[in-house]
Amino acid sequence: MINLTGKVAVVTGASRGIGKTIAKKLHQAGADVVLVARNRELLEKNAADLGAAMVVSMDVSSADEVQAGFKEIIREKGNIDILVNNAGITRDNLLLRLKEEDIQQVLDVNLKSMFFTSKSVLKPMMKQRHGRIINITSVIGLMGNSGQSNYAASKAGIIGFTKSLAREIGSRNITVNAIAPGFIETEMTAELPETVQKEMAESIALGRFGSTEDVANAVLFLASDLAGYITGEVMNVTGGMYM
Ligand code: NAP
Repeated sequence: MINLTGKVAVVTGASRGIGKTIAKKLHQAGADVVLVARNRELLEKNAADLGAAMVVSMDVSSADEVQAGFKEIIREKGNIDILVNNAGITRDNLLLRLKEEDIQQVLDVNLKSMFFTSKSVLKPMMKQRHGRIINITSVIGLMGNSGQSNYAASKAGIIGFTKSLAREIGSRNITVNAIAPGFIETEMTAELPETVQKEMAESIALGRFGSTEDVANAVLFLASDLAGYITGEVMNVTGGMYM
């Protein structure tokens, strides 16, 4: 049984979807969870569902907001043991129709944010000579996908970032790993037409979409002592859609 009692875990994108389930899972394992996203109302509702949890509203693509938000977390909690970089967006279109702002926004929210949040936790983690950084990338960052060049580039970038940071701070006993989910049942995928959903499910060895729980279980493992000798890895949670 994984026990994270006494650990402070920050989860970005915890207002809904995968991030909400990750926060719940870490809380159930005993961690003191801090919920981060822009929508404060949803964060407070999720925190209340957990019993009690700190919520911090910030736009993770803003260096200033991240710096201020993490300062507040460290002031309140004293340290941060686990950082889950999960916040992400899509702005899909074929390259010929992709506007510059759609490229910029996706790179900023999905990739640039990880530089800001990770930088904010390094000092406390280095001081305590322990830390776990878990970055949510996507199978699309490994496979590519028509209509998602901006998203795929941001998610592939996360993998390079993860491996570089893992090398940079491994000697301080801080691990940095990525999780690449496949098609996960969330509001995002529920909007796809039934025929598309069926086609997608057929490309998955296990023959079905994953759940937010499937991703959260992988996060829980990487956050735990069981994964102490794993760093710089990309763990696919795709049901065999990509091998
Ligand atoms: P979702 O339901 O759309 O949730 C995205 C989360 O990110 C929300 O909590 C949102 O909160 C937050 N967020 C977005 N922009 C933000 C910003 N600028 N600052 C702070 N928070 C922001 O998406 P999901 O399906 O759970 O996806 C979660 C992660 O998994 C993403 O990184 C996604 O790329 C990845 N992923 C998902 C799938 C899938 O099939 N669903 C597959 C592979 C990878 P606010 O709007 O309140 O800010």
